[in-house]
Amino acid sequence: MARINPGFKKEIQKYGSFDFNACYNCGNCTAVCSLTDAGNSFPRKMLRDTVLGLEDDLKSSVEPWLCYYCGDCSTTCPREADPALLMMSLRRWLTAKYDWTGLSGKFYTSKRWEIGAILTLSVFILLLFVFFHGPMTTELTPEGGVALNTFAPWQAVEIGDWAMAGLLSFFLISNIVHMYFMIVRKSRIRIPLKLYLKEFWALIFHFATQWRFSKCESESGTRRENLKKGKYNYWVVHFLLMSGYVILFTMIVGMLGWFQTDEIHPWWHPQRMLGYYATFGLLIGTIYFSYLRIKKNNEKTKHSHYTDWTFLILLFLTTVTGILVHLFRINGMPYLTYYIYVIHLMVLFPMLMIEVPFSKWSHLAYRPFAIYFNNLVLAARKQNAA
Ligand code: SF4
Ligand code: SF4
Repeated sequence: MARINPGFKKEIQKYGSFDFNACYNCGNCTAVCSLTDAGNSFPRKMLRDTVLGLEDDLKSSVEPWLCYYCGDCSTTCPREADPALLMMSLRRWLTAKYDWTGLSGKFYTSKRWEIGAILTLSVFILLLFVFFHGPMTTELTPEGGVALNTFAPWQAVEIGDWAMAGLLSFFLISNIVHMYFMIVRKSRIRIPLKLYLKEFWALIFHFATQWRFSKCESESGTRRENLKKGKYNYWVVHFLLMSGYVILFTMIVGMLGWFQTDEIHPWWHPQRMLGYYATFGLLIGTIYFSYLRIKKNNEKTKHSHYTDWTFLILLFLTTVTGILVHLFRINGMPYLTYYIYVIHLMVLFPMLMIEVPFSKWSHLAYRPFAIYFNNLVLAARKQNAA
């Protein structure tokens, strides 16, 4: 029998939701949701499970990850119970439950913890540079640029990047394994190996495209209405932001020797073009999403949790300091380049270490894995029933 947690409603409120008690179970929200289906019915079921305190059922559910926060359910809810916000809160709560270190729960429920962790990691980077930086030469390179690699040799920075990538991959992957046990193993369905391989494409496809997101936006309302409302903008800008992030992450972790050169390439060189694309995506994304959160004229940005702001601010500062480093470096301004470079890493490091495995960025991994695990369970059930 499912265990009931009477304190669950209070618990989930810490993750952002507050109005769901008003729900009288009419089912309008599920009827209007373009992403719900017979295999996974939501958001009404999530509302009901939350109100009843069925914590164990919620822990093993994938539905919160199948929702892309279009907000249609909240707009049409006659009781203003805000089911879309509950789905968002459940995603935060699940992120905390997958995380075996307990840090994610701390960051989502305590501003002090999150800000304290960001400051600690920033100071750590500052101290590394105070004690270990190279000479601050004012001699410029033959092209008139700053010799950044004398101050911060890319080989040394790359070792730090690998250590960071190893750590955050360890946390994220171990949390995904935990998620697997909570969803797939809990279902007690035997899944043949060939199904794991057959459904693997879904993981890659959804990770690369976030395709359900665009489906969510395009199926409610006519195309014209959606264009007018700017609904597609959200997916396009989200895609720009995500692809910019993936490109930048790949270049700083896997290709730093190619990316952080003292030689100033012409503007059309692939190194600069990729850097410009990534910067453009991150800048447009952070400005656009901040604007929507300030305006609050959209269901999905009406309620901002403080972690939404921390994420956007860190990403924006990382982008702006990155642009400044580039400008100062190519214009031959050594001291400004060095100081801003240190500040850039003081923002970048905590942004990646906190957001990727423990907070907002982790949804980029949890969503496609949830779709993958869900496909596995549904396909295995179908096979067993045949
Ligand atoms: S959340 Fe609103 S629309 Fe959905 S079942 Fe409850 S009252 Fe009905
Ligand atoms: S926010 Fe959109 S996708 Fe999510 S449950 Fe509501 S209607 Fe469905």
